[in-house]
Order: sequence, then structure tokens, then C-alpha cells
Amino acid sequence: MDCLFCKIIAGDIPSAKVYEDDDMYAFRDINPEAPCHVLVVPKKHIASADEIGADNSAIVAKIYEKIPEIARLGGVKNGYRVVTNCGPDAGQTVFHLHFHILGGAVLGKMA
Ligand code: AMP
Ligand code: ZN
Repeated sequence: MDCLFCKIIAGDIPSAKVYEDDDMYAFRDINPEAPCHVLVVPKKHIASADEIGADNSAIVAKIYEKIPEIARLGGVKNGYRVVTNCGPDAGQTVFHLHFHILGGAVLGKMA
């Protein structure tokens, strides 16, 4: 499958790893929009949040259970924002479900 994040998970494209287990991979965004900008992805390919359902929501729960630890490993201190862009209107550019963790500074209001 021609998916950038599947290639990153497989190690075919280098990335700055923050956390990894059997279900998920977390790495630093190549174009950070905050001092801490980490992406968390399920190892199983899910195209977007629009594809979340009863058959795969357990992995989403596991990711959210780990987000506090991953955020701290990424360097956040006084809070953080979790963002998932879904589809064209939200500006999703990589069609493998991912959660942005943004922090390390006071963030502006969301659009
Ligand atoms: P989105 O626009 O929500 O689909 O987010 C995709 C994110 O992937 C963007 O913030 C990009 O900066 C990031 N990105 C693209 N290529 C890479 C890469 N090779 N390594 C790390 N992050 C990447
Ligand atoms: Zn993928």
C-alpha cells in the first residue's frame, strides 16, 4: 500500500520515534507547529477518523490511554492539544489515521 505512515511504521522511511508498542507508533512531526508536535498512529492502517467503527475503536481507545504518557515523553509540561484532521475541509494530508499532540507553549485558539 502506498501510505507514508505505513512506510514510517515499517521503518522504510526514517522518523524520530517518541514511543512504540504492538499497537501504535509515535514520532515527531517533520514540520512542527508547536515546540512539541508528536503524531500518534495505529500500526493497523485506518484511513481517517471517518473509518472508526466498532471493529477498530479498541485501538483508538488504547491510543487515548497512552496519549498522556506520549505527551510527556514528547516534552509537554503545562497541557497539550490533541487534534485529528479528517477529510478535505479539515486539511487532512496523510490518509492514515493520526493524532497530533501539540504543546510546549501556550497555543492559540482553534479555527
Ligand atoms: P494532516 O495534515 O493532519 O494529515 O497531518 C499530516 C502531518 O504529517 C503534517 O503535520 C506533516 O507535517 C506530517 N508529516 C508529513 N510527512 C512526514 C514525515 N516524513 N515525518 C513526520 N511527519 C510528517
Ligand atoms: Zn497506512
